[in-house]
Amino acid sequence: MSRYLLRIPYIFLTKGATSTTKTVLTKKGSAFVRPIHTCSGLLSLTRYDENTDWQKKLSPEQYVVTREKGTEVPFSGVYLNHYEVGMYHCVCCDAPLFSSESKYDSGTGWPSFKQAHGTWERDESHASIVRRPDNSLGHAGTEILCKHCDAHLGHVFEDGPDPTGERFCINSVALNFKPKAK
Ligand SMILES: [Zn+2]
Repeated sequence: MSRYLLRIPYIFLTKGATSTTKTVLTKKGSAFVRPIHTCSGLLSLTRYDENTDWQKKLSPEQYVVTREKGTEVPFSGVYLNHYEVGMYHCVCCDAPLFSSESKYDSGTGWPSFKQAHGTWERDESHASIVRRPDNSLGHAGTEILCKHCDAHLGHVFEDGPDPTGERFCINSVALNFKPKAK
């Protein structure tokens, strides 16, 4: 697992990003720590209340990515080149998020999926993810969160392969893989 994390509040590294992209390295406990719930007006669907001690439950890396919307260093994640058959679960609440069947190599440096587990055609009502508009990338983007615990997972982009044309760009740190039982 990556020991170093990038905090990128306003800039998100995407395919083709160059060295001109500015990144900010921060340490746990720095002045950059923000409150967990930064989006007003959105009701949480979580089964965890605000008293859940995520810092105790998660590693520092997992905490920064999932609860503070951090982004792991590209090409650093343990699941980037991982193609075992099974299911990727939410590292916070264990909800099944993405099947290995939808995983593909996007070349971007983060685990990429064509669609969320439970998606039927374009219907994500039975999937364990939710989409939320996110303008922190410097343009209109879409954040992907766990439907059950509000964990930040990554973003979705419209440059994915058929049949969805979408690329779910997900942090390895936010996932916990479980191989399919034989
Ligand atoms: Zn979750």
